[in-house]
Amino acid sequence: MLSGEAMTVLNARYLREGETPEKMFWRVAEYVAEAEAFHGGDKQAACQEYYDIMAGLEFLPNSPTLMNAGRKQAQMAACFVLPVDDSLGDIFDTLKHAALIHQSGGGTGFSFSRIRPKGDRISGTNGLASGPVSFLHVYDAATEVVRQGAVRRGANMAVLRVDHPDIEEFITVKRDRTVLNNFNLSVGITDAFMAAVAQDRSFALVHPRTGRTVRQVPARRLFDLMAAMAWENGEPGLFFLDTVNRANPTPHLGIFEAPNPCSEQPLLAYESCVLGSVNLAKMVAADGQGLDYDRLSGVVRRAVRFLDNVIDRNWYPLPAVAEATLRTRKIGLGIMGLADLFIMLDIPYGSKQAVLLTADIMRFITAEARRESARLAAKRGPFPAYPGSIYEHSIGPVRNATVTTIAPTGTISIIANCSSGIEPLFALAFSRHVLGGQVLASINPTVLAYLDKRGLLTADVEEAIKRQGSVRNTGLAYHVKQVLATAHEIRPVWHVAHLAAAQRYTDNAVSKTVNLPHKVTPQDVARIFSLAYRSGCKGVTVYRDGSRNQQVLVQGVAA
Ligand code: UDP
Repeated sequence: MLSGEAMTVLNARYLREGETPEKMFWRVAEYVAEAEAFHGGDKQAACQEYYDIMAGLEFLPNSPTLMNAGRKQAQMAACFVLPVDDSLGDIFDTLKHAALIHQSGGGTGFSFSRIRPKGDRISGTNGLASGPVSFLHVYDAATEVVRQGAVRRGANMAVLRVDHPDIEEFITVKRDRTVLNNFNLSVGITDAFMAAVAQDRSFALVHPRTGRTVRQVPARRLFDLMAAMAWENGEPGLFFLDTVNRANPTPHLGIFEAPNPCSEQPLLAYESCVLGSVNLAKMVAADGQGLDYDRLSGVVRRAVRFLDNVIDRNWYPLPAVAEATLRTRKIGLGIMGLADLFIMLDIPYGSKQAVLLTADIMRFITAEARRESARLAAKRGPFPAYPGSIYEHSIGPVRNATVTTIAPTGTISIIANCSSGIEPLFALAFSRHVLGGQVLASINPTVLAYLDKRGLLTADVEEAIKRQGSVRNTGLAYHVKQVLATAHEIRPVWHVAHLAAAQRYTDNAVSKTVNLPHKVTPQDVARIFSLAYRSGCKGVTVYRDGSRNQQVLVQGVAA
């Protein structure tokens, strides 16, 4: 049932002593289904349903659920955001909280924007402030130490607002590639900044405490610096603060300042969110002509109940996290296997048809998930912060303030043996460095099946795939090369188009890297950033092929 790669991953971290994958899925299903009992539902039936969708690899929850369900401290959420205030006590309190979250398998996002700039006076000691970037190093070092004892490596996101006086230092800090390896960095971009860039105006950097202007900088110079650094190193990403906050379902509770580590989940201070993903490669209709939407609907409904139950069965690492999470009951159902689906349907990822399908799928999933959340609300009550939320004057009671998120699915897609999230295939054959150095090699089974079915799997083609991870240099027909185009062969605008299409129908955000060929210029990166903003994305991350020394994914299987 499971691939060799899946077994390697499961054995390394997920399976307990003597546990088989079947037993793991039962453990998770039973533990989560227990919530049905206190909501007056049928626990046994729910348990079987959850087992079936997980064991059938139609749906998988995020890694912490698979790892921790049934444990004494069953911390099952992947995503957290913690507030960082401008005092030494607060900064170190939050660091402690982050360490506890990492230990339990969660990733943390922070905004460092409230911290006073470097060189500012500290009234209590008459000393000089060291600035937000200095504390990033402290957080990074702590994360590095905690990873030893944690269920998995702690990941962090740091956001700094574009109008913070230390923004240039933040943008360029990773030029030294030895630092902040446990952090993803994103600049918190405002509409005002993007307008200043468009009009080539100067832009004010303001003191976060006093609001006074510290310096004026040409907006475009700052924007170009971000593009140049992202071109060089893939970072920083951009996080569009105003776009994100326009979609805040509970503005009466606060604003979004940062997302979780891989950017797919903006959260309020202390909120956590559990994610899960439907494997679209398992949703192809029997005639192979499109999606089986009835089946997809069934899986989505069960997945929503599952994730809502996780909230009740969860162990929360901090009282503040329990309180914030239980107030909004956010869940993040998403997709994986999208690239596999396109290949199975013979549609190029870089095509209008594919982009429309991405939008259709997410529109359908969000609508079905919302309906299920409303059904749950009818039985179990709406989320406690429902009064004052955007739903109060629109669709009425729902159980969850958000229902959809598109996660990277870095590990669960390996377990499900499908393409990750909404990414195109990175290579048609690849080796991966995972879990601290092991190399897993494989040739994509969807690609093999596609070629085989059409009688195109010649020895030459197989050889090309193994050597180059691509069919670019083969004699295959143009259409076939389009369908099997890999991430760097697909034009960057198509990456943005899928990101924007998915975002339009996703409550939370979408994790996706815009992969760029090696030859693009920093100006091309700036154009991608602008395009992502204009098309309504909540954030954007680029990666230029070959720009980092050690890549997570290496094209082609070593011959
Ligand atoms: N995450 C983490 N450490 C990791 C990988 C992921 O803390 O090593 C968190 C992080 O918040 C990320 C989220 O898990 O955004 C989801 O990542 P992904 O979908 O790749 O996780 P999976 O469930 O596939 O393991």
